[in-house]
Amino acid sequence: MLFKRSHICSHMPDASSDLTKPTLVDIILPLEQSEDTEAQKAAVAAKLNTKISQIVELRLRKHSIDARQRTIKVQLRFEVGLGESLTPEPELHPKYPTASSDAKKVIIVGCGPAGLFAALRCLELGLKPIILERGKDASARRFDLGPILKEGRVIEDSNYCFGEGGAGTFSDGKLYTRATKRGPVRTIYETLVAHGAPERILIDAHPHIGSNLLPKVVMAMRESILSAGGEVYFGTKVESFIIHERKMAGVRTTDDREFLSSQVILATGHSARDIYEQLHAQKVQLEQTPFAVGVRIEHPQAQIDSLQYHTPQGQKRSALLPAASYRLATKIDNRGVHSFCMCPGGFIVPAATENDEVVVNGMSLARRDSPFANSGMVVTVEPEDTAPFVSEHGVLAGIAFQKSLERAAKQHGGGGQVAPGQRVTDFLMCKDSADLPKTSYFPGIIPSRIDQILPEWITSRLRRGLNIFGKQMRGYITEECNLIGFETRTSSPVRIPRDERTLQHSEISGLYPCGEGAGFAGGIVSAALDGMRCAEAAAESRGYTSQDRRAPEPTTTPSSQVKPQLSS
Ligand SMILES: Cc1cc2nc3c(=O)[nH]c(=O)nc-3n(C[C@H](O)[C@H](O)[C@H](O)COP(=O)(O)OP(=O)(O)OC[C@H]3O[C@@H](n4cnc5c(N)ncnc54)[C@H](O)[C@@H]3O)c2cc1C
Repeated sequence: MLFKRSHICSHMPDASSDLTKPTLVDIILPLEQSEDTEAQKAAVAAKLNTKISQIVELRLRKHSIDARQRTIKVQLRFEVGLGESLTPEPELHPKYPTASSDAKKVIIVGCGPAGLFAALRCLELGLKPIILERGKDASARRFDLGPILKEGRVIEDSNYCFGEGGAGTFSDGKLYTRATKRGPVRTIYETLVAHGAPERILIDAHPHIGSNLLPKVVMAMRESILSAGGEVYFGTKVESFIIHERKMAGVRTTDDREFLSSQVILATGHSARDIYEQLHAQKVQLEQTPFAVGVRIEHPQAQIDSLQYHTPQGQKRSALLPAASYRLATKIDNRGVHSFCMCPGGFIVPAATENDEVVVNGMSLARRDSPFANSGMVVTVEPEDTAPFVSEHGVLAGIAFQKSLERAAKQHGGGGQVAPGQRVTDFLMCKDSADLPKTSYFPGIIPSRIDQILPEWITSRLRRGLNIFGKQMRGYITEECNLIGFETRTSSPVRIPRDERTLQHSEISGLYPCGEGAGFAGGIVSAALDGMRCAEAAAESRGYTSQDRRAPEPTTTPSSQVKPQLSS
């Protein structure tokens, strides 16, 4: 870690204070003064009960916007140089020990956040990671987004979900996580910064990278893996598992190669349906798990800004404010209804992985400056909700249900990746939309009866949930708002069970189900944390002591950047 331990101070440090610890001060300023150095120094000096002239340097450590009241405030944490400048901070650089020639090999299937962080941690622990990835490297992959966006043609192994960096590469790149109990979140941020992510993610309460910067970061991570002696194979799709007497021995790829190792970290994400089918066919135990499906809801960003920042309609938000976001949740008849992966100033993108489906998701660029705000609006699906699919699909019933919705979206869309859309007001009144408001979804949308395509148990809950949200955020339900179908890939409907301590599959030793696809993560940071944990578990089973496992960071509660979660 490059950052020194610190203590937070609300008074002048006395002579008995530990002088090796930097002085940290929390202040709150009105938005307009938040970037004014003199105002910052004055507030810090008042808090420390000292003269402004004593404050030689301020280094920002935390930044958080509180827009809950009409007067927007900014919470700032500074490290203070009292009477002298602060010691310059070393830059974060990636540095991994080179794998020795006899280092034990660990096969990692999937080059998403889980796979990449597993590989880096393997190197730190003296193991040699070998990543197998079905998709292309991030720069080649970028060109494969053209056909899906412009022609509606899905390249099945190279798209928004598959390829270097996994679903994280062309994602929104929101890094905010509640998974602080699961591991060292700060290490994830520092690793990303060391590989080219903006340093600001170390400071912001709701850190965000953006799709334009993420490819560069994941490519730099690959470079770190390769230069330390790891191996990365693109266009290498794992087809089956080599298992002898319930022990993992390696994997076979579609081009008839075998990669052998007694340790396989399986980090294939929630869209690798063929992997679940293969595991099922090879009688590897799987379990159904709850997930969520629904729609993407899209508003003009200006409308969300005005609701969250209380700016009059038609007036732009202050240049000091980011595009506003929201988080909404309620429970209707024993099922959650909630917003998911809200993308302020973002775009809706086609996230299908096969040509017979339409799937939508959201992303944004670092600037978050598109005129649209989109979010998933989804209803929880419990295993019993997929009962009609169980007789044919067994434990894969949830996937069959997801797929049925994705096919329905294709059928009711306008061909290619043109998605079905309905004004939210028409959805609530169960009527046709004569036309649709503008959208950021590049392939386009076509008026459709989303209220009739989704099963009634979902639409009825969505309707009631949306009505509640419309009351909590007056102006949320508006003629200018589209619902676009369907958001189905929120998380995996299948869990690959593993032992809590060894992290190996409950029945197959040496198989480490990992990340979002295995049901142990939901987002970039939690997938990365899980990747690290699996690498540590693999090292431990090779004889490393448990001290090699990183202790979770103490839980912190970052203050809200926008309104807190609204739940009924
Ligand atoms: C458009 C979009 C926006 C998102 N925005 C955010 C966000 O803002 N913040 C956030 O936290 N999360 C976001 N997510 C979710 C996030 O990307 C995932 O939670 C995260 O990437 C999961 O990481 P993972 O490593 O477990 O799996 P994945 O990222 O899905 O990676 C799995 C990898 O395995 C590869 N693979 C699959 N099958 C095989 C096989 N048979 N052989 C070899 N390789 C295989 C895939 O090609 C893929 O690269 C977004 C997702 C999408 C699609």
